[in-house]
Amino acid sequence: MSAVEERSALAHNYHPLPVEIATGEGAWVVDSDGRRYLDLLAAYSAVNFGHGHPQLIAAAKAQLDRVTLVSRAFENDRLEPFARELAALAGKTMVLPMNTGAEAVESGIKVARAWGYRVKGVPDGAATIVVASGNFHGRTTTIVSFSDDPSAREGFGPYTPGFRMVPYGSAEALEAAIDDTTVAVLLEPVQGEAGVVVPPDDYLPAVRRLCDERNVLMIADEIQSGLGRVGATFACDLVGVVPDLYLLGKALGGGIVPVSAVVGDDDVLGVLRPGEHGSTFGGNPLAAAVGLEVVRMLATGEPQRRARELGEVLRARLEPLIGHGVTAVRVRGLWAGVDIDPAVGTAREVCERMMAGGVLAKDTHGQTVRFAPPIVIEESDLHHAIDVFEGALRS
Ligand code: PLP
Repeated sequence: MSAVEERSALAHNYHPLPVEIATGEGAWVVDSDGRRYLDLLAAYSAVNFGHGHPQLIAAAKAQLDRVTLVSRAFENDRLEPFARELAALAGKTMVLPMNTGAEAVESGIKVARAWGYRVKGVPDGAATIVVASGNFHGRTTTIVSFSDDPSAREGFGPYTPGFRMVPYGSAEALEAAIDDTTVAVLLEPVQGEAGVVVPPDDYLPAVRRLCDERNVLMIADEIQSGLGRVGATFACDLVGVVPDLYLLGKALGGGIVPVSAVVGDDDVLGVLRPGEHGSTFGGNPLAAAVGLEVVRMLATGEPQRRARELGEVLRARLEPLIGHGVTAVRVRGLWAGVDIDPAVGTAREVCERMMAGGVLAKDTHGQTVRFAPPIVIEESDLHHAIDVFEGALRS
């Protein structure tokens, strides 16, 4: 722990790089001493559209002057347009608005269980949900109950029952795990926190087929992979798969306010009855106004196109580094997991060297550096960031 962290009044649940950000614009941030950095993390993809995007800031400012919170006890004039346009973007009919990603996951679990009991006919209390090894879906007690990451899970029991874990990427294992009590399969189409782990191309289509055959809901956690990052609106789009429920968050709030949602059709999401689920802040007018603007930006297809094109630049720069300080590279759109050769150092050390060179990135699982710059990043800045990364591999 650094001296700064020891003096901090904050709980020690994060180990941040020693940089204090004061302002940000586009892909750039400036620290309290006036030093500029390129942001290659984009708040874990919550800042997909860049810091201070003018269109999003304008929507937020306009809404601040109107009304910000009324609770769901009353309706508000921003929420219905947001829900309608988000549902349309996803090709669905219904939206359950929440705030954080973990809340969207928890909500998806509740909806799947209620659907299992009320529609599928699973005996009360017996519902099971199949999840994947290496998953990351958030930090609540139920969600860490089905994590296999010791640092996320250990010491936080007792754990919520009702989950079965199978190896990520194996349709055979998934098929074997499904039985009459199974109400849902919950997966990240690309595992972000695991290090941008991409399953085989035929995996998600096989999951979709199995879910159809066995009358099980397919729930895609697109909280990190969705909303432009992979060069498509959803990572599921890349393999032509449509899940029953999308879980969305992060970029849905434009990097301004926490906005998350469960998106599906009314035959599934419609199982919830008044009074059974809610959130004081979920669907608030400020969140809905910003979320609506995010959806409108995505509806143009422009962020997706840009992520696709810049993603090719990222791939072309990173793949040749394999064997030169890097042992593996996984790229999906403008999103990459890069495994660092231990001979070069840990991923954290590489990130610290990059920081000294004016580029901020984040390590995950010891040896992996994740690149997820804001999609608005200039191509020349992306090249500069990779130059700094190459330098960090050599130093
Ligand atoms: N699901 C996925 C795939 C995530 O990557 C994350 C956060 O990293 C979450 C859920 C949890 O989101 P939040 O931190 O907003 O609760």
